[in-house]
Amino acid sequence: MFSPVLDPAVAGVFGLLVGSFLNVVIYRLPKMLERQWAADCADLQGQEPAPAEPFNLVRPRSRCRQCGHLVRWYENIPVLSWLVLRGRCSACSAPIGLRYPLVELSTAALFAFCAWRWGISPAGLAWAGFAAALLALAMIDWDTALLPDDITLPLLWAGIVAAALRWTPTPLADAVWGAVAGYLSLWLVYQGFKLATGKEGMGYGDFKLFAALGAWFGWQALVPIILMASVIGAVVGIALKVGGGLREGRYMPFGPFLAGAGLWCLAFGPQSVLDAIGL
Ligand SMILES: [Zn+2]
Repeated sequence: MFSPVLDPAVAGVFGLLVGSFLNVVIYRLPKMLERQWAADCADLQGQEPAPAEPFNLVRPRSRCRQCGHLVRWYENIPVLSWLVLRGRCSACSAPIGLRYPLVELSTAALFAFCAWRWGISPAGLAWAGFAAALLALAMIDWDTALLPDDITLPLLWAGIVAAALRWTPTPLADAVWGAVAGYLSLWLVYQGFKLATGKEGMGYGDFKLFAALGAWFGWQALVPIILMASVIGAVVGIALKVGGGLREGRYMPFGPFLAGAGLWCLAFGPQSVLDAIGL
């Protein structure tokens, strides 16, 4: 039975837990990739890879980055623990970033929205997963200028599968062409920019993320999404430059803006972007 109150509440609590996991993914996945690349490089040069402690999404257990204090289960309850500890490590009082509870709350809000809109159903679950992936990608790209294939590619395939199963309203053909056109369009822009300026303006991760958004919303959504991401990206870029937040020569990642436009379309639909500018 669909309940417009109970479903979002249950989904919101589940979202808090998923958000807590996303914090781990956001912090560890780039480090796991760097370790993997270092091991691959050593291997190619014929060196024995240095033996390393296991480092993945479950091991080792979370520790304070300042003093190494092992985070106990009751210090790891989403949002609540952060509030009770007043954002500080219980052992050494080193500050724990506000972004941890914010990621948890954002995930909870997105999950509650999906449950309110689609109920606790395959469609609701699919869109909740979509939102969680975008949130993780936005944060990882902002931190490290990486959009890991481990998230973008499954997200792309999931969009096509969800369309085939009719969990999204996107007809399957529109999803497939959305993925193709999303990838190709940014690839062409990238090649043109490189030809004209000799610089690389984007990364391949951006093409894959845009392709994934095309798979979820259909090719018709690509223009509104790229318009929104570019305008907001440009405004933020200029603001950072003027405010001195962007160091000289530092590359501002585009992924967070693509992801943000994707979340906007999840909430309000791609047409809302065109309506806003009177198209
Ligand atoms: Zn500590």
